[in-house]
This record gives sequence, structure tokens and C-alpha cells, in this order.
Amino acid sequence: MTDSLVPSSATSGFSQTLPKVKPQYTIAGHATSQDETTDDVILSRLVRQYLPAHGQSAVEKSMHDMSRTVLTPEVLDYALEAETVTPYLRPNTTFGEINDNDPLVTCAGWKALKAIGMRAGVVKVAYDESVTSYNRRLHQFLLNHNWSHTATLTMCPMAMTDGAASLLAKHWDSPDGDQPGRNAVLKEYYRRLTSDDPDQAWTSGQWMTERSGGSDVRGTETVATRLSNNTSQQDQDVLGQPLGPWSINGFKWFSSATDSDMTMMLAQTTKGLSAFVVPMRRKTATGTKLNGIRIQRLKNKMGTKGLPTAELELKGARGWILGEEGKGVQEIVTILNITRLHTAAGSVSYWSRGLAVSRAYTIARKTRGVFLHTNLQHNYWMACETVKYRGAMCLTFFGVALQGCVERGLGVMKSTPSAALIPDIEAASALLRLLTPVIKAQVSMSAVAGIRANMECLGGVGYCENHEDGGILNLAKLFRDSVVQTIWEGTGSVMADDVGRILRDKRIARGRIVEDVFAPWVRNVLELCRANFPKECAAIEKRLDTLLQLISRIKSSPAQLEYSGRWLLEHLEVLAAGSLVLFDATSDMEEVASNVAVRYILMKFAGEDRLQQDDADLEAEAIIDRKIFLGPDFVPRPEEAKL
Ligand SMILES: Cc1cc2nc3c(=O)[nH]c(=O)nc-3n(C[C@H](O)[C@H](O)[C@H](O)COP(=O)(O)OP(=O)(O)OC[C@H]3O[C@@H](n4cnc5c(N)ncnc54)[C@H](O)[C@@H]3O)c2cc1C
Repeated sequence: MTDSLVPSSATSGFSQTLPKVKPQYTIAGHATSQDETTDDVILSRLVRQYLPAHGQSAVEKSMHDMSRTVLTPEVLDYALEAETVTPYLRPNTTFGEINDNDPLVTCAGWKALKAIGMRAGVVKVAYDESVTSYNRRLHQFLLNHNWSHTATLTMCPMAMTDGAASLLAKHWDSPDGDQPGRNAVLKEYYRRLTSDDPDQAWTSGQWMTERSGGSDVRGTETVATRLSNNTSQQDQDVLGQPLGPWSINGFKWFSSATDSDMTMMLAQTTKGLSAFVVPMRRKTATGTKLNGIRIQRLKNKMGTKGLPTAELELKGARGWILGEEGKGVQEIVTILNITRLHTAAGSVSYWSRGLAVSRAYTIARKTRGVFLHTNLQHNYWMACETVKYRGAMCLTFFGVALQGCVERGLGVMKSTPSAALIPDIEAASALLRLLTPVIKAQVSMSAVAGIRANMECLGGVGYCENHEDGGILNLAKLFRDSVVQTIWEGTGSVMADDVGRILRDKRIARGRIVEDVFAPWVRNVLELCRANFPKECAAIEKRLDTLLQLISRIKSSPAQLEYSGRWLLEHLEVLAAGSLVLFDATSDMEEVASNVAVRYILMKFAGEDRLQQDDADLEAEAIIDRKIFLGPDFVPRPEEAKL
């Protein structure tokens, strides 16, 4: 009997076909095969919803091209190198002196990824003055959604660069005041931060966190001292421009973009916490060196391996004060609003790759002799995961749309279906203020859970550091990298605390932001959807009433508000995302989008167990599960179809 059994060996027996990840976005009509149709179908819907017809082609082209760039062996190699050849320090010269020239070493892959991002315009697109008639922020974030998952954290410095550019733009016309030469210097920095030429482009760090705390910068111990004007004229930055007239000393506990060209930071002056712009390098008689900055050590982190996160000692770093002395936190808020949006957007990007790999694996893998995509339970589970992802996408990109409106005016939404979503610029501004911390906290936490499910979807392979085949199946890397998004730029609790403060802030909608702005906004969106989704609208309204009752009970008590912070985040998240998925479905009542909307409401408002109703038509439900997860274009071969 055993004579007929052929044992497997390392080179014979079963061999799994490599799952093939499809390009994330394909312009309609440009797919050359079934393998090339858009994999991340919500993207086409966001394009149609938020961009006027004349703006769509440029955005679609950038997504189409980036979707292919990230699958090239060359880029996958860069990403793998950035992950595995981690940054290191050479703190001393050969003869033991402190190396103040080039102590930090990053690998070629890391540098190449930064350059690819710059060339694609991951920051520049948002500042392209030639585009005035559509939402540049939508373009930027849609492009980046196709890139961040592969960019291996090079999008961290890009996000901070975006924040820094946004802050410098606000100071475009600020006079030099008592800092002669500042305006010209900052204009040049802005030009470089928003450049798409890697030879010219700069990135910026943001140095807030100190040992005393990142969430609460009031404990900042770094001190800035004003030098005389004469001194400020003597020294030059790496570009030959004057160094600022402030000398900064202290210790920064977490700096991620240590390989950047400049940084924004907070330091104490005699008038309080102030914001500073500091170039990383200054000129010497023979070349350049770090600008009074010493890298003490690199952090040993769970993930974000390629990102050189360091502890820095500042001794006489020279910089310019930005904004009013003592009012630095007000300045830094501009950066934080942008970086928080990038945090959520990065999270959904990682999640999108997790789902793409799950789809590819599900199509390629057999269990018990049949393809996984014929397994009803598996498809149902992954369809639920896809519904959560789509809710997070609708919410994140609404935040992005609001950011674009607040920066450029409501005109950027003209001639788009989404114009109906945003009543006026005051409402847009208030909604952005309220929803940014909600989006940051909730989307980044959901993505961690989502990517964990994607790892499980691949079985044991999902838990491995798959560095083979270009590393495209390495979900462990995405998981590790996604966890930090829940911590940096403010933890979930800090976001909840922020929301509590907004609710009581009399300067925003007279302290009634939920009652007078958010609730009317939800009701307005529901009115647009009620004819098609009456039950779902009623469920959202019921939850809205619950939130309003909760707020009226707790608002006057800071302790109650603090205690309820996480509930507030969750209520606001599902109310906004639920309204937005209904709005998305209402636009064309497309089958999958409609089912996604109904399921999102069932899942988030009635509990996941209610999804499977006793009287559900199993066959119809299973087909919808498959379409939600594997896409409307996926057609199983007849011999593979179970139902
Ligand atoms: C990989 C990595 C890279 C980073 N890069 C940078 C960088 O480039 N620049 C930079 O400035 N920082 C950076 N950080 C720091 C990061 O922003 C902080 O770690 C983060 O803001 C949290 O601050 P903390 O570590 O001081 O924690 P703490 O603020 O001490 O938080 C500890 C706990 O207290 C809770 N808590 C704090 N405040 C409140 C509150 N008001 N209500 C309820 N709970 C609260 C928190 O939720 C948390 O559970 C980085 C961190 C990491 C992990």
C-alpha cells in the first residue's frame, strides 16, 4: 500500500500558486484583462462624488500610474530594503570626535522611496496653484492612498512636510518684524517643501514630544533665547541664507523625520511656549554640519523600522520664531490638523493593501479541495471587513474634502454631488474641527483591527514576515506600522479629550457644535437618502437622539465629559460614517454600494449578529458577500461556483 504513496519533498508535492495582487486603481476602459480592473472599488466612487468631471482625469491618471508603480519589482525592492536595512548611527569620527556632519545613515531604498513620493507630488499636489477649480486635497489624498502602503513610512516625513508647508503658507505675508530676513528665508523653505523635484525638495520634521510628555506639550523643557541681530547675520543655513536669531537648547524625545532638512518645533521663551522653524544644517568654513543638533540614539521600535526616529539634544540650534511669541501652540495646531488627517489616511491605505492581499489569497488558495472564495463563511467575514473599510474611507475622505474647502473655499466642490453635503463654509470649518480628532482616533484604531483580520485571512502565512516575492504579502509589516498611528499625533484618549474641549468651546458655534452644526448636518444628509433608505435613516436618527441626550446630560460636568470621551468618539464616528455611506449609495443606488450601506448600518447600529437574519435568502446574500469582498467584476469559473 505505502509503495503507491509518493512523499512530498522541498521540491515536489503541492505548491501554492502565488496570489496576484491587482492594481488598486484602473481608469475605466483601460483594463487589459480581468486582472487589471480596479481592485479598490470605493476609489472610483470617491472620484465621482468629490471631483467635477473636468478634474477627474488628472486625478485618475495619478492613481492609475501609482497603482502600477507600487507593484513594480524595483519599488517593492526599495520597500523591502527600507524595512530590513534599518537606519543606524555613526556618532563619532574615526578619531573619536563627535560626528556633527553625517551621523545618521539611511539605506538607498528609503531614499529612493522618498524621491518617488516627491516626484509623484505627494505633497506638491495640494499646493499646485495652477489648480483652482477642484479640490486639490482630494487629489493629493487619493493619490497617496495608492502609495502609502508601499511607501514604508516615507509618508511620515511627507505628512509633516505638508503640515509645515501649510503653516508657512499662513505666514506668507507676515512681516519680518524684529527678525530681519525671515520672510525671504521662509518663502524659500516653503518653495522647497512643496517642490516635486527631489534635487530641490525638502522635508520637515516636527519636534514636539519631550520626556515630560507628548500629549501635553505644556511640560516642554526646551528653551529658546534671543540673540542679538548682529549675530543673526553672521551664520548661514545650508542654502546660504541667514540663520534665525534664536538659539535653542534642550532635549527632544521623539523625532521621526531626523533625516529631514528642517523642522518645526516648540520651545519655551520668557513669554511662554513658542513655535520655531529650524534648518537642520548650517554652513561651516569647509562645508556644512548639523545646526546645533546631536542625535543621542535611535529608538528601537516595534514597527516603522525604516523611519529614523531619534532622541535629539539641541545645543545652540538656530531658528526663527513663527507667529506670536508665547502663542506657539496655536501655530502648531495647523500642522497637527494636517498630520492627523494623514494619519487616518495612511491607516486606510495600509488597510486597503491588507484587503487586496486577502482578496488575492482568497482567489488563489484552496482548502478542503475547493477554492476559498467559494466558502460562504469566509466571504461573509471578509465582506463585513470590507464594509468597515468602506465606512472608514467615506469618513476619512469627507474629512479630506472639508480640509480642501476650508483652505480654498466651497467653490472646489462646485459641480460635484458632494456639494450637497457641505452647506456653508462656517459649517465646513466647524465640522472639520470636530471630526478631525474623531477620524484620527477611530479610523486608525479600526485599521489595526482590520489588518489583523487580513493576517488571519491568510492563515499561518499571514503571521509571517513575508520578505519573499517583493514582500507584497507581508501583512505583519503593515500591522506593526498601523499600530503607531493610534499613538502618534495624539492617542485615542487625547483625541477624545480634544472632542470634549470642542463641545464646550464657546468660540465654535457658541459652544453648541453638536447641537447646532453636527446634528443638523446629519439630518440634512439623511433627508437626501430617506426615500431609498427609510429604515437606515431612522436608525441613525435614533442614535443621534441618544448622542444629543448624552451631551445634554454630561456637558456641564468636565468629569462626566472626560469619562464619556471614548463613547463620544464612537457615536460621532458611526453617525458621520453611517450618513456618508448612505449618501454614497444614494448617488446611483448601485447594488454593492447599497448593500454596503445597509450592512454598515446593521453592523454599527444593531450589532453584527443581526446581520444574518433568519429569513435571509442565503443564495442572494452569499452572492452579495462575494461582490462586496471580491468586487462586482469577480466571476468564479463555473466549476468553482458553489452557489
Ligand atoms: C514611532 C514614533 C514616532 C514618533 N515621532 C514623533 C515625532 O516625529 N515628533 C514628535 O513630536 N513626537 C513623535 N512621537 C511621539 C508621539 O507623538 C507621542 O508618543 C504621543 O503623542 C504620546 O505622548 P507620550 O508618549 O508622551 O505619552 P503620554 O502623553 O504620557 O501618554 C500616556 C498615556 O496617557 C494618556 N493620556 C495623556 N493625556 C491624556 C488626556 N488628556 N486624557 C486621557 N488620557 C491621556 C494617553 O492616552 C496614554 O494612554 C513619536 C512616537 C512614536 C511611537
